Amino acid sequence: RRRIYLLGSLVDKVNLKQALEKIEEFIESKTPHHVITANAEIIYTGRENKSLSRTLNKADLVTADGSGVMWASKYIKDPIEERVTGIDLLNAICKQAPKKGWKLYFLGGEPGIAEKAVLKVLELEPECQIVGYENGYFNEEETPKVIENIQKSAPDILFVALGAPRQEFWIREHLKELNVPVCIGVGGSFDVLAG
Ligand code: UDP
Repeated sequence: RRRIYLLGSLVDKVNLKQALEKIEEFIESKTPHHVITANAEIIYTGRENKSLSRTLNKADLVTADGSGVMWASKYIKDPIEERVTGIDLLNAICKQAPKKGWKLYFLGGEPGIAEKAVLKVLELEPECQIVGYENGYFNEEETPKVIENIQKSAPDILFVALGAPRQEFWIREHLKELNVPVCIGVGGSFDVLAG
């Protein structure tokens, strides 16, 4: 796997298929991993925001999410082959999950949205094992309960849709205690699914 520096942030040169292979490795390792789909805005903000750039550079897999990032890789003459967005990963994972036996958890969005997204996934992939969902409007005091519920459900993959960069900070902060092999920030993907 090759990583390149774009505006001070590491980005992995992976297409969707390679990203999925990486995710499968993370699941098999049974240790927590952080996956980020990075758009130009996040990478650019990381230049002025140390804690964001640290979070980006600590992630286990960073995909290029957006034409700005693709352009930047072309500009440094090390072009990334394919854009991999949050919704791309979410869709591809849900398609593979039944075959692989992966368990999924959906966290984020306004009340009712994660549930709608789950129902949509089950319409398309009836055999998908979705072990839980929760809306993204919880406060500091409610956070331990949110985490406990995820731990109890023991998913292989946790989709976190709290918006960028909040979801990236949230995953980084709780990665160890969540103990989920793959945590991915997926931005507004639940809204897209819920339609
Ligand atoms: N969101 C959330 N909790 C919050 C703030 C936002 O769950 O405290 C959700 C919001 O409902 C939406 C998503 O996070 O589903 C953010 O979507 P947006 O498209 O703004 O994020 P981006 O794709 O830019 O990261």
